[in-house]
Amino acid sequence: MIYLYLHIPFCVSKCSYCSFNSYPGRELLYKDYVDALKKEIASIAGVLGKNNRLTSLFIGGGTPTVLSSGLLVDLVQYTKTVFNFECGAEVSIEANPGTVNQESLEELSSCGVNRISLGVQSFDDGELVKAGRRHTAKEAENAVRMAVESGFSNINIDLMSGLPGQTGASWRKSLEKAVSLGPQHLSLYELMFEPGTLMTRFKRENKFSFPDEDELEKIDGITGQICAENEFSQYEISNYARFGFECRHNINYWLNGDYFAAGAGSVSYFNGRREKRIDSPEEYIARIRRNRTVVEESENLSREKSFRETVIMGLRMKRGVSLSVVRERYGIEALSYYGETLKKLLALELLEVDKEYLRLTEKGWPLANSIMAELV
Ligand code: SF4
Repeated sequence: MIYLYLHIPFCVSKCSYCSFNSYPGRELLYKDYVDALKKEIASIAGVLGKNNRLTSLFIGGGTPTVLSSGLLVDLVQYTKTVFNFECGAEVSIEANPGTVNQESLEELSSCGVNRISLGVQSFDDGELVKAGRRHTAKEAENAVRMAVESGFSNINIDLMSGLPGQTGASWRKSLEKAVSLGPQHLSLYELMFEPGTLMTRFKRENKFSFPDEDELEKIDGITGQICAENEFSQYEISNYARFGFECRHNINYWLNGDYFAAGAGSVSYFNGRREKRIDSPEEYIARIRRNRTVVEESENLSREKSFRETVIMGLRMKRGVSLSVVRERYGIEALSYYGETLKKLLALELLEVDKEYLRLTEKGWPLANSIMAELV
């Protein structure tokens, strides 16, 4: 099964919390970038030869939809000419409100994109401004409605908790609004203060007030309640889906499965080797044109390191990590490997184990990061 990620490193502007590999103001590069991307896609397909049945294509960013729908359709159609798409393959694209319209969404849907992930973040205009988002709550609502009308029946909405000025009440309003628009999937991330971002500076300089621990706990409670009432099951730390709409592409990441990638800054993982491509889109285009490698960092993961990563990633999922799968894949017995550390976490009821899975308990869930740090 082949999973392919394509990175579009362009955005309209930079959000204040963003540390992704994305650049505003590079409109003149768009066409050349897509041409370069197509060359890299062709070379991946060439290496795979006939064994190139694609299970999932994920176009992420950045904001892929800053590209014209013509360029995006060309990219998807080109990928279809060099890869064999499995029947029912998941074809996802990330999009931002304000960069899509009815026509562009219809074109994407018609060319075979069957899952759209809309970066809404909040339905509160004040929170959106403080996060440096360029769209309004109304534009976000319209984008979701247009996606539905364009034939998308697998829609994700991203919302962010912990934004400046956010309260339990404003989170409830955003989440209720999101659910009312009929998505099949919700990605509910907590704001992270990444080094070098404006948001981290705002926090350091006390420019905004952020929800405190009590408020964040309230927000978590509201999330659990609203998602349960609306039949969204949590299947990963930040991801909730209606039955059958879990994102297959992301599940493969959490299973630490192989995946290919193309585009500036993208990372691939295949046969135990991780490769990261150069961040700069200009340099990416230049290197592809000169037939030079775009990979700037690579690492061959040892069996043990890959095993530990598989356990950590697997614990992000509600069902946990399959002990028989890791045993078969690495020849390592997870329970004995982690010895006393694991015994302690089990005794504290932060982890639980049954015949097949090792997973976080309800008590362990809010402490996921520190539990994983003990196992890494
Ligand atoms: S739209 Fe996404 S990728 Fe672009 S700047 Fe904002 S958070 Fe970053």
